[in-house]
Amino acid sequence: MIESPMNDINDKKPKVSYNSARFMLSAPDLAHCPADTGYEVAFAGRSNAGKSSAINTITINSKLARTSKTPGRTQLINFFTLNIPGCRLVDLPGYGYAKVSKEVKAEWQKNMDEYLHARESLKGLVLVMDIRKPLSDFDTMMLEWAEASQLPISILLTKGDKLRPGAAKNMLAKVKSELKEFEYLSSVILFSSLKKTGVENARNQLDQWLMPSGN
Ligand code: GDP
Repeated sequence: MIESPMNDINDKKPKVSYNSARFMLSAPDLAHCPADTGYEVAFAGRSNAGKSSAINTITINSKLARTSKTPGRTQLINFFTLNIPGCRLVDLPGYGYAKVSKEVKAEWQKNMDEYLHARESLKGLVLVMDIRKPLSDFDTMMLEWAEASQLPISILLTKGDKLRPGAAKNMLAKVKSELKEFEYLSSVILFSSLKKTGVENARNQLDQWLMPSGN
């Protein structure tokens, strides 16, 4: 497991500039996603976990993923282009809105299941968890889906600023220990959008998926 993936400083290939992220399109389901070529990394999280804030922090763009919850947009898969052709970030619909009906939840589940299983260009999944309540039922479900799809996962334990540093480190160790049998775990990163902690670690993890050697 990599806690702090590092770039090779001698690496001359073009770098992903996360600030170059631009909205591309929103898709209601797999059929409406962009052509399945290139490399993409998706962000998932329970609603209110801090996913939109994490995307905005990583891309240094406070408006990219909307932090305000607009009904209608919440069920869509949102794609963002990057400066490297064929590389994309994907904001998956949040989960856990109290007001959402059973039918909408079932539809969400079907679309996520299809996307995670069938999407060839999907190289990694960032699972955003509020550090104060990690490994919810939703998170476990995502971990199981990732395992079934042999998809590497990085966990962002966000809102790290809400805990004292010692407690945050303990939680990091606890999550790692609870998931030590999970073979698709690439990294667990202590993160805070407020304090900008863990941002470089997160970008380095994305680099590894979007720009693997040979790409
Ligand atoms: P999403 O539903 O997962 O996209 O969550 P949001 O990014 O919209 O964040 C939900 C709430 O948590 C908002 O009020 C954010 O301001 C707050 N939040 C998100 N990240 C952080 C963080 O790192 N630290 C703190 N203190 N609050 C955060």
